[in-house]
Amino acid sequence: MRYVLGAKCVKCGKEYAAVPDLTTCTCGGILDIQYDYAAIRRDFSPKDLAACSDWSMWRYRPFLPVEERSSPPPLRVGWSPLYRADRLAGELGLNTLYIKDDGLNPTASLKDRASALAVVKAREAGADTIACSSTGNAASSLAGNAAAAGLATYIFVPARAPKGKVAQLRIFGSTVISVDGSYEDTFELSKAAIGRWGWYNRNAAINPYLSEGKKTVTLEILEQLHWQAPDYIALSVGDGCTIAGAWKGLKDLYAAGFIDKLPRLIAVQAEGCCPLNRAIQTGQPWQPMEENTLADSIAVGVPRNPDKALHAIRESHGVAVNVSDEEILSAMRLLGRTQGVFGEPAGVTGTAGVKKALELGLISPDSTVVSIVTGNGLKDVQNGIKAAGEPMLVKPDMDALLEAFARRGICPATSTRKETAHE
Ligand SMILES: *Cc1c(COP(=O)(O)O)cnc(C)c1O
Ligand SMILES: [Zn+2]
Repeated sequence: MRYVLGAKCVKCGKEYAAVPDLTTCTCGGILDIQYDYAAIRRDFSPKDLAACSDWSMWRYRPFLPVEERSSPPPLRVGWSPLYRADRLAGELGLNTLYIKDDGLNPTASLKDRASALAVVKAREAGADTIACSSTGNAASSLAGNAAAAGLATYIFVPARAPKGKVAQLRIFGSTVISVDGSYEDTFELSKAAIGRWGWYNRNAAINPYLSEGKKTVTLEILEQLHWQAPDYIALSVGDGCTIAGAWKGLKDLYAAGFIDKLPRLIAVQAEGCCPLNRAIQTGQPWQPMEENTLADSIAVGVPRNPDKALHAIRESHGVAVNVSDEEILSAMRLLGRTQGVFGEPAGVTGTAGVKKALELGLISPDSTVVSIVTGNGLKDVQNGIKAAGEPMLVKPDMDALLEAFARRGICPATSTRKETAHE
């Protein structure tokens, strides 16, 4: 790993060699991978990327902690689209908004970025089995990416995990342990099992390589914006690994001279489960909270990466904003109706937060904002229907259709078309 210097504890500063099965510091602190930015700057520039035809997260290899000889895993992860969302921006009264749809990754969430990296590191460690606990998406992404690479998986999820995500796990051939308890209970059981059987550990925050995979989302956003930093990047926060990774990517680009300005982060949590944002808002140390939100992916009462996440929000002069479940469901409809993007509840929470931050005057309407949709709506169809309702049901008959329209006040106008040239 030409550009990796090692790993450093964010709590006590102790340094470690970057071995593939690195976990946490002996003090319990989370490790952070360190790079030689001067060397990256010397060898690698936006020009190289402009000439690169690898349309995946692996186009950023100099910024990734993998051995030169390691080949990327089979599934295509990353290079998700960044849409300019003018219609939605107009409805929100915001100058410029972009939507990064990370629900278009192979297992339909941003977690694929971390799991792809975990698969490479597990292979480098010579492991044949990987395990994790997850609210759902880390699990399904690990299961899929590991299946494609021929590795076995043991996956621990809380019993509340949405059916779509559990179906993915089963289809990808994982051994699934559905834990009758909270995410906290699930995490603790997985930890004990990993300790007992020695599987490669893909638990959020424990494994410092995962954030390095996640950071490719901001590397991409900035490349897609031609290295012009937006004012804000908004995303939902659960354990805090994603926002910490997003910030790491931005800082990497800044340190390597790819950008000359750092965006501010908008950290969005659910009102019913916002331990990290509450710490930001009150200036007090974080405290556990109940997991009281329908956005299962961010229903994290005991965040696993509080230090890195709080540091990222603070260092970016970020904005912390909480949204209700109603606001999350409303953002699902809004993104779908205005942009054709269908996110799961935690997937659209960032966008709900942008709307709320504007309403609260926390960000200026003149801003340029990128909102990351972190997971696809098809993973959690039940909440999609909850957000948008059931369709009308009619007998296969024109009179029945007319009656159903009349009952709902729908007056379809005859479609007008421009003259089109016929062949
Ligand atoms: C995991 C996840 C998040 C939050 O990421 P953390 O690292 O837990 O903060 C947000 N949205 C979706 C869809 C996720 O799967
Ligand atoms: Zn330490």
